[in-house]
Amino acid sequence: MRLVIIGAPGSGKGTQAARISEKLGVPAISTGDIFRENVRNLTPLGQKATTFMDNGDFVPDAITNQMVRDRLREEDAQQGFLLDGYPRTVAQVDYLDGILNSAELGISAVLQLVVPDSELVSRLLARAAESGRSDDTEQVIKHRLELYHQQTERVVSRYSERGMLVKADGTGSISDVLERALQAVTEASGVLSRLVSQ
Ligand code: AMP
Repeated sequence: MRLVIIGAPGSGKGTQAARISEKLGVPAISTGDIFRENVRNLTPLGQKATTFMDNGDFVPDAITNQMVRDRLREEDAQQGFLLDGYPRTVAQVDYLDGILNSAELGISAVLQLVVPDSELVSRLLARAAESGRSDDTEQVIKHRLELYHQQTERVVSRYSERGMLVKADGTGSISDVLERALQAVTEASGVLSRLVSQ
């Protein structure tokens, strides 16, 4: 299975991606996590990404695309993956298409977690108080949400036009959202729904 999960900052996509990938037995590949790890380890990639991340901007497509291409070449991604936080721009959609097409592969389904903006802001402010993430300040949060609406909703439309998009309500408890998300993904990608009840 090759899946993409899309959601605004604060939608819980990272939390759900980890659980969905465990349930389906494919690695969750989070571009945000890979960038943060590189920033922590002071790698050249981290040094390139850090200012963009701190400002709530997207890391440029060329840097992000190359990183994803390299990650998808790793052994554990050969039998499937769940991409979390990529693609976020239309140019990234095109790039991912290119990688997959050249291997004669496709995406099984794209899941969008839907949470109202008002709830996203309150969740992110609460996370800011706890996590100390450098991109969780109020001003940066606002900017990240704007970027989501401006850029990533175009990605959602792209996949929707292709009939690959499924949506799940991202409000409520983690386990309720997980159940809805698995249901949506398994129906969309034709995997036996018994996975949901395991
Ligand atoms: P996330 O943890 O998914 O919210 O990502 C944290 C930050 O990493 C984002 O605000 C961006 O600065 C950067 N980032 C993650 N994924 C991408 C992407 N696909 N394209 C550009 N920048 C990204």
